[in-house]
Amino acid sequence: MPYAPLRIALFGSTGSIGTNTLDVVRRNPDRFEISVLAANRNAASVLDQIAEFRPTLVALADEEAAQTVRQAGSACEVVAGEDGLSEAARSGDYDVFIGALVGFAGLRPTVEAVKLGKRIALANKETLVVAGELLFELARTSGSKIVPIDSEHSAIYQCLVGEDPESIRRIILTASGGPFRTMPKESFPSIAPEQALRHPKWTMGRKITIDSATLMNKGLEIIEAKWLFDVPIARMDVMVHPQSIVHSLVEFSDGSVKAQLGMPDMRLAIQYALTAPERLTTSYSMLDLAQMGPLEFFPPEYDKFPCLSLARDAGERGGLYPCILNAANEVAVEAFLSGRIGFTEIPELIECALSDAATAALPPLSDLEGIYACDRETRSRTLERMGKHADAA
Ligand code: NDP
Repeated sequence: MPYAPLRIALFGSTGSIGTNTLDVVRRNPDRFEISVLAANRNAASVLDQIAEFRPTLVALADEEAAQTVRQAGSACEVVAGEDGLSEAARSGDYDVFIGALVGFAGLRPTVEAVKLGKRIALANKETLVVAGELLFELARTSGSKIVPIDSEHSAIYQCLVGEDPESIRRIILTASGGPFRTMPKESFPSIAPEQALRHPKWTMGRKITIDSATLMNKGLEIIEAKWLFDVPIARMDVMVHPQSIVHSLVEFSDGSVKAQLGMPDMRLAIQYALTAPERLTTSYSMLDLAQMGPLEFFPPEYDKFPCLSLARDAGERGGLYPCILNAANEVAVEAFLSGRIGFTEIPELIECALSDAATAALPPLSDLEGIYACDRETRSRTLERMGKHADAA
């Protein structure tokens, strides 16, 4: 029986996940169509996307960019600002919401889509890190289904098909190790942004590429996995696998281990999130293990990459700690990229933010407003700390 195409609201359409998603749509016009597009300020790309995919609604966080798109005379409705993004998510004129904005900015629109009970295909891990508990509570009430796009979580999701969740003994997230896996720790203070932006395996947005270099990305993924699979962090391990072919593994109570393998290509995870458990036929380059050479696996070096332990600890403490971790990290990564701080100051700033919280009486995590306030407060404290540090230098 022919399917009606799935109508997609793509939040983050101009980014790395966004453009990979559009390629999946382009290759499967009978299965998918774009109903809503949202991004920040890249008006030129959005105009190209409107011409090709003909959405009915476009949201741009940046008012000027929205004005540029309106003036170009496109037939679709254009809304602007942070409220515009939430409004577009609330419009409900779609079947599946793809969360591919970067950072905390993804939270509000995702909450709106979850409230409507939509299917959520989520790449924007920061949303789950800061508000996983509340988001899954909302999803239980609304009937929304949250499916991962992140390749590791997609792998785990695929390994769990047909399994009893009670039989999960351990989740093992693989990590490429980033560009500094073999660099001695003593050289870390002189790492420049351009070096950190050169990921050995994946082409991704700037923020996640820096997170991969500090291994914060893996830390965020541990917290993301806790909410997606309802498994405590104590039962999650990380294994460095530089070839990025084994995307993650699950160990079961009988000692059996399942893994999902594939070429490092985000389109696989994106389309699986859209159609699971059905698989689409693709013409992407296929995995040929005999041609791959050796697949290597190493334990992570917690001492060399402190962000991994900071994230693990924040995830175990729960409450607002992951929000503090995330906000301080977003500020620190931005500062590193603009040359204001060094690579090793990223974990230092995060550690300071977390220890401030440990000495203050941190309120319990009760609602989304608490998360928004905690995010604002941590950002301003971290910026203030960076300012003092620069004055002292
Ligand atoms: P990019 O930086 O490539 O893209 C980010 C997107 O978000 C762009 O469309 C950008 O719009 C938009 N955006 C940025 N800031 C705002 C804002 N304040 N308000 C509204 N829109 C905003 O990121 P990626 O695609 O690499 O990553 C997106 C998410 O997916 C991240 O959470 C990342 O961790 C996760 N992820 C990414 C993977 C990858 O392979 N890239 C793999 C797994 C997870 P504009 O271009 O207009 O600025």
